[in-house]
Parts: sequence; structure tokens; C-alpha cells
Amino acid sequence: MGVSLSCWPPAPEQERYLARCFAGDIADLDINFDLPRPELVTSLLSSCLHHSDGELVNARSTWQWTVSERLQGLLAIANASIGNTSTAIATCSNELCRGTVELELELASFASAPVIAKMDWLSPRGEKFFCRLPTGQDQRDWYKHIQHSVDESWFIARLLEATPDTQLPAELPVDWIDSLGASLADVDPLTALTLAIDCPFCAQALNVEVDLEWLLIDGLRSLQRRMIEQVHCLASHYHWSEKDIVALPQWRREKYLARLVEGL
Ligand SMILES: [Zn+2]
Repeated sequence: MGVSLSCWPPAPEQERYLARCFAGDIADLDINFDLPRPELVTSLLSSCLHHSDGELVNARSTWQWTVSERLQGLLAIANASIGNTSTAIATCSNELCRGTVELELELASFASAPVIAKMDWLSPRGEKFFCRLPTGQDQRDWYKHIQHSVDESWFIARLLEATPDTQLPAELPVDWIDSLGASLADVDPLTALTLAIDCPFCAQALNVEVDLEWLLIDGLRSLQRRMIEQVHCLASHYHWSEKDIVALPQWRREKYLARLVEGL
């Protein structure tokens, strides 16, 4: 049986990623959502994402993808599995309001062409350096170092490279770190996404920080939870194997479950 793949970004002329729907395969029960985030994202990418020739992407190569590329891959999987919309929840910062604001996000609006892997960067002193964009491997190392309470400058400093005419200072000054952080956010606005909205309750202007990666992961986690729940109910009643239940199309699983509910 062939796997049906959806392309991402949705406009066919930009075809770049092909993703299968998560939670339709027995292998999807093996994805451990308790893994550290970089490991989890790699396991999702290497399980659901295909090259344009249909070949599955290789886990090792996704560590070298930029954080931005990895997010596009995750968007592709979420779009194929959950559909084009996702809801983020924010709380209004106005002390007197504290309203809960639901933001309907259209995933297609976050589709972007690959971000460059390296950029020129001018230090506050006007010297030119190169700055790499962080990769999955950088994130993985960062997660390991967080436990040793290393500050953000450690992460940013390793992205900077000297040019033949410049030398890196032994320790990066604070204004360099701030300026580099701002340049990285300009090149890749989705990784630390901020949306400007007006609160629907008190009309106060809000800047909502959306962790898009977490939101997509959470949507996929819910699909796995539903899958486990369905296997549990059908296996308890019909004594079918996990593999056979997962092999059923979603609509058929639902028909059997509806039949069980009717029988109660
Ligand atoms: Zn408000």
C-alpha cells in the first residue's frame, strides 16, 4: 500500500517537503514525546518527512538542518496530519483584564523558502564576521548545556566565525550578543515568533510570543494520545492486535468505536 504524501509549502510550484500523515502508522506509537525536544523533532522528521523522490529523510542529516528548516519540516508534518489551522492560547497582560485569547493560526502563512545557512554580520565596532544559523545539532548541544546553567551567550558565541581580516574576542561583549540575537531574529522570525494583536476583551495592544514548534508538537502529541486510546478500546473489546488496529483507516476505527458506544 502506497503512503499518501502532502507537499509543503502548499503551493505546488514551491514543492520542497513531502510529509505523510502522523498517527496512521504503527511506527508512530514508537515516537516518544517525552524525549528532549531536539531529539523528538528529529524522530518526527525522520519518520514522516520524505524527499521529493519519495525517499524518507535521514535522521543524521536533519541534525545539520537549520532550526528554521526543521520548523518547516514540522509544519509540513502538522499540515498533513492536523490540517492547516492550529490554535494558540495567550493571556492578556492587562492586570484588570487577564482575558484568555485564542489565536487561530493558519499554518500555510508560516511557509517559507529555506533561510540562508550563514550570514555576514557587522559587530557594534563595525567589523565584519560570519554568523552561522543555528542547526538541530546546536539545539541538541544547547539542551545538554542548559543543565549546567550556561547562559545564552554561550549558544550565540559558537555561531560566530572570524573572517580572514577579523579576530573574535575571547569573550563576546554584551552588546554583541544583543545585536547578534536581533540579527538572527530578523533572518528567522518564526523560531521566536511574536504576533501583535489587540485583546478582544479590553482592546489593549498585545505582543504574543508563540512557540510555534511546541504548538505543532502538542498537536501531534494529541493525535498519538487519540491513537493509543483507540487501540486500548478496540483491543479490550475485540482482542485485535495493536498492529491490526493501527492498520485500519481512521474512519473505520471510528465506526467500530461508535458501534461500541451504541452497544453500551
Ligand atoms: Zn485584555
